[in-house]
Amino acid sequence: MSTWPVPSALDSSNQAFPVLSDAQISRVRHVSKLRKVMPGEILFQPNDTEIPFFVVLSGIVEVVQPSLTGEHNVATHSAGHFTGEITMISGQRSLVLGRVTQAGEVLEMSGDDLRLLVAGDADLSETFLRAFILRRLALISHGYGDLIMLGSRHCANTLHLREFLGRNAHPYTYIDLDTDKTSQELLDRFHVKTGEVPVVICNGQTVLRNPSTQQLADCLGFNASINQTQVRDLIIVGAGPSGLAAAVYAASEGLDALVIETDSPGGQAGSSSKIENYLGFPTGVSGQELAARALTQAQKFGARMMVGHKVTELKCGHRPYEIVLDNGNILAARAIVISSGAQYNKPPIANLKEFEGKGIYYGATYIESQLCGSEEVIVVGGGNSAGQAAVYLSQTASKVHLLIRSSGLSETMSRYLIRRITDNPNIEMHLRTEIVGLQGNGQLDEVVWFDRATGESSTHPIRHVFVMAGASPRTDWLRGCVALDDKGFILTGRDLDASTGLVPPSAWSLPRPPQMLETSLPAVFAVGDVRAGNVKRVASAVGEGAIAIHLVHRALAEL
Ligand SMILES: Cc1cc2nc3c(=O)[nH]c(=O)nc-3n(C[C@H](O)[C@H](O)[C@H](O)COP(=O)(O)OP(=O)(O)OC[C@H]3O[C@@H](n4cnc5c(N)ncnc54)[C@H](O)[C@@H]3O)c2cc1C
Repeated sequence: MSTWPVPSALDSSNQAFPVLSDAQISRVRHVSKLRKVMPGEILFQPNDTEIPFFVVLSGIVEVVQPSLTGEHNVATHSAGHFTGEITMISGQRSLVLGRVTQAGEVLEMSGDDLRLLVAGDADLSETFLRAFILRRLALISHGYGDLIMLGSRHCANTLHLREFLGRNAHPYTYIDLDTDKTSQELLDRFHVKTGEVPVVICNGQTVLRNPSTQQLADCLGFNASINQTQVRDLIIVGAGPSGLAAAVYAASEGLDALVIETDSPGGQAGSSSKIENYLGFPTGVSGQELAARALTQAQKFGARMMVGHKVTELKCGHRPYEIVLDNGNILAARAIVISSGAQYNKPPIANLKEFEGKGIYYGATYIESQLCGSEEVIVVGGGNSAGQAAVYLSQTASKVHLLIRSSGLSETMSRYLIRRITDNPNIEMHLRTEIVGLQGNGQLDEVVWFDRATGESSTHPIRHVFVMAGASPRTDWLRGCVALDDKGFILTGRDLDASTGLVPPSAWSLPRPPQMLETSLPAVFAVGDVRAGNVKRVASAVGEGAIAIHLVHRALAEL
């Protein structure tokens, strides 16, 4: 019998701890080796990478999470049960320790063999994946991780790192310095300055002061198992919906694919509280849930994911192409998919940066909504994302002021959202209005906005502003390698036709014209919001990611 602190809703079905049938065990047996185990033997421990997978045939294996306060029992596996959680397919470091407590026999196989097995066996794939995901959810809900964060709600990087951990599904314990005075006193005694918050204790050993996402990812070993020297079939830059789709199709069709993401998987969609117009989700799906599912799917097929690292340059003078990372490392690939998307334009307000994360937010998810409580909030923008944020926040805020610079909601806003906004008594629209001033001391306290219709400025005691106005492509790292339009979006396919006058910067070297979605560089494709002519929708980004892989195969066949 296995035990595990799963959320109560999952207890009844016990899908986190299924007992494998004889038929299932015999399929595992074919690709694993039999091992006799003795009490006290350690099968895996925290920080181990690429840990093996075990099916218990007899005896007992207990799984614990060592912490500063002792060991937490996480699971007790007996005959028919199997070990592992999401790290089994992500290849990341183990969070827990597996120890034999009663002698017996286990089947053992490597993580690579497990990934091969699930890619080819739908029944086992479903059983294992469901259990791994549920087990990870249980670890998150109990904060059973290898990380403690001491942070403050008045600190932008605390918010950013919490989102980074949440979106990477990494369990952690959070200590709020605003309410836990003992911890604050402890930090004072160690002379930790305000600018060094948040303080992160990683693996119970390393102490990081106000770390970057890159430092955090490295400390947690998120990318430790990724081989950076091999020349890959494909590197995908950006893990928004288009990049994740490209990863799923590339890996499932046998390409050796690596996705590089500067932050966390999900992209802009990951900051959406509810996407209601994506095919197959009639009641909507949160961007984070969609991203988490897509990530697991891509990893199940063998795609590798590097997070917390920004691509700073494409070296396009020779093939294989080379991708330069923010730490100077260089990775090579025969083909590239650029899915680096877009980011919100920041309104030209002098002290905007001072309040980022302390009243100015660029995403409206559960974490930000918790910070606002029932206070009045402002959403800036007239497009789909602003509309969605306004509707979401109206459920908790006492009032949402929607500030729109133009004289109406954007033509790109979906009709269902327009109706929800106009029917919602909690949302007040302010047309032809923009923010001209922010005031506060450390935390935003007041907002000044200017109404062009009346020509008047007014000051409002509002402490939370969500900026979601217009987006620019993230193409700064391409520096002349591929042809862009005048706004910096990447030109592809027929847009590169000589007749359009948009001549590629580097001479097109092949006798054939660029394929659909192909940039002015052969075998380099652009998909989703970064592409000129994109339609700013999750479905189209996903569609383009899938199509691009079909075209990558053709381009690789030319080599
Ligand atoms: C709040 C919000 C709500 C939305 N709601 C909807 C909706 O309901 N329905 C709908 O259809 N669409 C919606 N959209 C639009 C939709 O999310 C986007 O069209 C979609 O996310 C585009 O996907 P993408 O993969 O092309 O780019 P993005 O989502 O922008 O992802 C790009 C990724 O690339 C990464 N990246 C960028 N540069 C680099 C680099 N140099 N190195 C490494 N990584 C890099 C980024 O961190 C990011 O994760 C919404 C957008 C927002 C912001």
